[in-house]
Amino acid sequence: MTIAVSPQALPALVLNADYRPLSYYPLSLWSWQDAIKAVFLDRVNIIAEYEHSVSSPSFSMRLPSVVSLKTYVQPTRHPAFTRFNVFLRDRFECQYCGSRDELTFDHVIPRAHGGQTTWENVVAACSPCNLRKGSKLPKQAGMFPSQRPYPPTVQDLHNNGRLFPPNYLHESWMDYLYWDTELQP
Ligand SMILES: [Zn+2]
Repeated sequence: MTIAVSPQALPALVLNADYRPLSYYPLSLWSWQDAIKAVFLDRVNIIAEYEHSVSSPSFSMRLPSVVSLKTYVQPTRHPAFTRFNVFLRDRFECQYCGSRDELTFDHVIPRAHGGQTTWENVVAACSPCNLRKGSKLPKQAGMFPSQRPYPPTVQDLHNNGRLFPPNYLHESWMDYLYWDTELQP
């Protein structure tokens, strides 16, 4: 799979020193400018390259598509609380009826009742369910999420993410994105 994109959009997949992506969600990507800067600062190894090159009068090089850090960075165990990651944790399904259409976010304990915007209180909900629940408590509405909302680990999201690959994946990234979970239960 090769996707036609402009040279400005040729990001490098960034791997940790153990050849796993530095982060999955969001996927660790650097702009080609940052990737080249890191090459010249001797912070990364080039693992794979694009066909595209950049050149100036004094030098020419192919843009890196995969780089690995020379120094191992301890990865964060818990991914960032973002809209995308909430959807991913909930597998892009309404937590009340299972629909995948018109997804929005629902505060299980409504904000009007002091509910917070946290992993433990926000779930994916379709628009009709969200409207039906309104600012009622789960008991008042008789609506309870199908799974108790929780702060996922990177591994949790990674397992779900395999069902929903990102839109842009360069072929040279594939070896580094999926091999590690193939080997683990
Ligand atoms: Zn629903």
